[in-house]
Amino acid sequence: MTIFVDMDEVIADTYGAHIEIYNEEFNQQLSTEMCLGHEVWQMVPVEHQESIRNHARRTGFFRDLKPIEDSQSILKEISRKNEVYIASAAMQFPNSLVEKSDWLDQHFSFIPWKNRILCGNKHILQGDILIDDRSYNLDTFKGRPILFTSPHNINNNGYERANNWLAIAEMLL
Ligand SMILES: [Mg+2]
Repeated sequence: MTIFVDMDEVIADTYGAHIEIYNEEFNQQLSTEMCLGHEVWQMVPVEHQESIRNHARRTGFFRDLKPIEDSQSILKEISRKNEVYIASAAMQFPNSLVEKSDWLDQHFSFIPWKNRILCGNKHILQGDILIDDRSYNLDTFKGRPILFTSPHNINNNGYERANNWLAIAEMLL
């Protein structure tokens, strides 16, 4: 099978990074639990929102992200028997391209560069499975779309859902 896997909030913990950076810079105690069902920037005072919305434009933001738990070992296993592509709408943040490539070298070196799609609109993807945390990416996919649970999407219904990478393993291994 041809399987497309999103980066942010599927294999890279962008959400956690937003909270961590915000708490440190504004001396706050925001937690994932407090943000469920929302974007992190929506859960802070208006005067702090712009700062969070600009995190992704900072040098080093994407390079320093932590991998999502179990994503490395399980994706490695899946990639033994399937054609796995990482697909990230990276063009939204042009500065992220090199950082995302370096990050994949560091944390997902078993995904060769030819299997990395740093793109714009994901509706061009044609394959069997797309694993993504954004419903708008899944809506146009003609194969089997799987919504990967992220704090912001817990109230999205109508999609096959995987709560974590262990759930993906049960579906695909
Ligand atoms: Mg994502």
